[in-house]
Amino acid sequence: CGIVGYAGHRDALPLLTGGLSNLEYRGYDSAGVALREGDGVTVYKTVGEVDALRAETPETSEATVGIGHTRWSTHGKPTDENAHPHTDCTGDVAVVHNGIIDNYDALKAELEEKGHTFASATDTEVVPHLVEDELAAGESAKEAFQAVLERLEGSFALAMVVGESDEIYLARKDSPLCVGHGDGETFVGSDVTAFLEHAREVTYLENGDLAVVTPDGVTVEHDGESVERSVEQIEWDAD
Ligand code: GLU
Repeated sequence: CGIVGYAGHRDALPLLTGGLSNLEYRGYDSAGVALREGDGVTVYKTVGEVDALRAETPETSEATVGIGHTRWSTHGKPTDENAHPHTDCTGDVAVVHNGIIDNYDALKAELEEKGHTFASATDTEVVPHLVEDELAAGESAKEAFQAVLERLEGSFALAMVVGESDEIYLARKDSPLCVGHGDGETFVGSDVTAFLEHAREVTYLENGDLAVVTPDGVTVEHDGESVERSVEQIEWDAD
């Protein structure tokens, strides 16, 4: 339903939960965040409101990179386990997703055959497990993400963080995602209201884009080629 992300120099945690609060108007049943900390990823998630999520997290964190999600269930009941972010078996790959992975059944069966165990009933959870296998085969995080995207059918906006990198990986197909440019910090949202109080210069991703977000901005690829996406200035009255 709602996606947020932050890569910058400030504590990511309150910025992510603040962004999720901005997206509450869309409706949702669960909320969660994944923080890049040390060499790993820490996930907090719960059924219920963003305030319930705040009650589960510390007030501050050391993380300067992270992603967050408000879920509107399509596959799997609203439960803590089914809330996003979803992780792989190592816990080092965390993914949030809007939309539906139509072929998740076949992918899940294939992964279970290889020994993956699943913690949720969602369609989304196949994504971190597929990425895990690509990383284990020696691919970089971006290559792994790209290889997995080629296997997904359906509609999706995806954001991913991995333990080994400080970047956020994004992809979109028939579900919106945009990036807000701040001063040495970059915001991600499924719509601009996620971050408008922090950034007014926005890049909208297009269908089929794969994007890599760092504190310095975003680089975008389409069909494996680097592409330029324009930066638009948003005029918006907060009242
Ligand atoms: N299909 C996913 C799920 O049910 C994502 C739903 C959403 O867009 O929030 O968990």
